Amino acid sequence: MTSVHIRSAVQTLPAYVPGARSTGEDVAKLSSNELPYPPQQSVLAALTDAAGGVNRYPEMTGDALVEALARRYSVTPAQVVVGNGSVALIQHILDAVCDEGDDVVLPWRSFEAYPICIAVAGARAVKVPLTADGRHDVPAMIDAITPRTRALLACTPNNPTGPALTSAELAALVEGVPERVLVVVDEAYLDFVTDPEVGDALTLLEEHPNLLVSRTFSKAHALAGLRVGYLVGESGIISAIRSVATPFGVNLPAQAAAIAALEPEALAKTARRAAAVATERDRVLAGLREQGWQLPDAEGNFYWLAVGEQTAALAEHLRAAGILARPFAGEGVRISVGTPAENDRVLAATAAWRAR
Ligand SMILES: *Cc1c(COP(=O)(O)O)cnc(C)c1O
Repeated sequence: MTSVHIRSAVQTLPAYVPGARSTGEDVAKLSSNELPYPPQQSVLAALTDAAGGVNRYPEMTGDALVEALARRYSVTPAQVVVGNGSVALIQHILDAVCDEGDDVVLPWRSFEAYPICIAVAGARAVKVPLTADGRHDVPAMIDAITPRTRALLACTPNNPTGPALTSAELAALVEGVPERVLVVVDEAYLDFVTDPEVGDALTLLEEHPNLLVSRTFSKAHALAGLRVGYLVGESGIISAIRSVATPFGVNLPAQAAAIAALEPEALAKTARRAAAVATERDRVLAGLREQGWQLPDAEGNFYWLAVGEQTAALAEHLRAAGILARPFAGEGVRISVGTPAENDRVLAATAAWRAR
């Protein structure tokens, strides 16, 4: 036992449970919402080229990558910050805006990293339950704001339930929050959205200087193992986040690979792959509904089986069928969209579950 003081907020942190990692050859790893395809050739080439130069430090704040992102979104480089995955950036955001005991409003169930980041920042999580169909309850989230609220988080599409905020919901949310409260919209899965009603928080930036949009290279870009995320927002907020962020937080090969991933041809291929994943998602959803499952809408590269107390049993049933999914104890099982063959395996396993 150490006698060193550990902050009480740290001693009581909930554990981040990562998706199970694959152990065998013939296992469908559908537990972490990764793309089932390898990184693109041009991105791999940039990565390996850069690897030979790692005796040198990278650009401290990833300037070339920041500039490429600024060009992509028609903002200034001062409005973009990159970090070691969006999880690191979410921590930096909260470290920059929260004093001890401040409140952060968030939807729940949502991304499990949020409550951990909030607690590490010394703040208090104010969890607003999702609606019965797994959506953000926008009016309730706005109602939860008090003078102690420093930030509000939104996740669209929502991990793990799947639905995304419509343009109208997103506008109502951002407009309903006082300007002194930071709104963070996590759009990690936006590339997979196909419903034209779904909103894009970047379009609201100009009107709302208290808005931050979070995106990542981990999902549609097939670079989860590289750890690159970014935020777009008002330059004063971005500057504050940069000042608390880890120096050299994005490593040298990762910067090179992310820049390569933003080349027009790579972006076009990413879009094609994301569309193929979305098509598979819709096929699986239709198949599951035909089997009698009730599921919330799915706009990301995953879907949600809210089986409650049967969660552990369903996850075990899937595992026995060679499928690694992500159980959330007592709530449900999240399954990522895999290759067509993997998705067929899921459909066979879920049919067998219902026929038990
Ligand atoms: C996967 C995911 C991310 C990505 O995190 P990285 O740290 O960039 O890998 C961000 N937000 C949500 C909601 C996610 O599910």
